[in-house]
Amino acid sequence: MLGAIIGDIAGSQFEDYKAPAPQAGFQLFVRNCGYTDDTVTTVAIADAIMNHKSYKESLLYWCRRYPHPFGAYGGRFQDWLDSVNPQPYGSYGNGSAMRVSPVGWLFNDYHSVLDEAKKSAKCSHNSEEGINGAQCVATLIYWLRTCRIRRDQIENAVKKKFGYDIPPLKDINRIGSTGHIDTTCSETVPWAIRCFLESQDFEDAIRIAIMTDGDTDTKANITGAIAEAYYQVPEELAEKAFSYLPKDMLSIVEQFCTIIQDFVV
Ligand SMILES: [Mg+2]
Repeated sequence: MLGAIIGDIAGSQFEDYKAPAPQAGFQLFVRNCGYTDDTVTTVAIADAIMNHKSYKESLLYWCRRYPHPFGAYGGRFQDWLDSVNPQPYGSYGNGSAMRVSPVGWLFNDYHSVLDEAKKSAKCSHNSEEGINGAQCVATLIYWLRTCRIRRDQIENAVKKKFGYDIPPLKDINRIGSTGHIDTTCSETVPWAIRCFLESQDFEDAIRIAIMTDGDTDTKANITGAIAEAYYQVPEELAEKAFSYLPKDMLSIVEQFCTIIQDFVV
């Protein structure tokens, strides 16, 4: 969850899809950064689990409370938020994967992680692909944080359980440079996994994800969420990212940190 928020805020400065991809050595946090829908919805999922709300109720509460995140909500998700009686709309966008990271931390067995990831997705993203993307990210976080998988086993395990082929980084860069935006789970999730697999440490993972361009905040969010389960998150990065958050979001983050500090390995 912390990694997701750090990645989202660092990636937000390049969310303008017409802007060129950043070069190595770019500044992670600048004035033109902010939390986007990725962070608001991630906080909502954590709040739902920790404070016993339904995923739908919590998503509606947080997203309506913060109606103008950096970069705005996606069009169909905004319609869902504006609806009097919001119903799932079959989305296969990457929104279900970008908000799911707390599930990988706050449930402690494989089947619960799968079930809860599905529940967190299906109030809006009730498509096979939307659910699969959420389950893949949550499971990978769970596997990594509990040391149930080695890094060199990830590619095969993800292919076997979730059907994703993880493309080589050069292919992702090639697509990113055309201005193509990866907005679906089936693109962003395997791409984020590759960014993690190529990294040397947490910050490196976030930087690689952002430099592949495209949906920079969401790719860095998912990459950061996975990287957090494997690497130590540098305190100064967390502190910088959290300086962009309003108080009530921070209190959810603090509650999350208090819970997980007992079982971080
Ligand atoms: Mg976003």
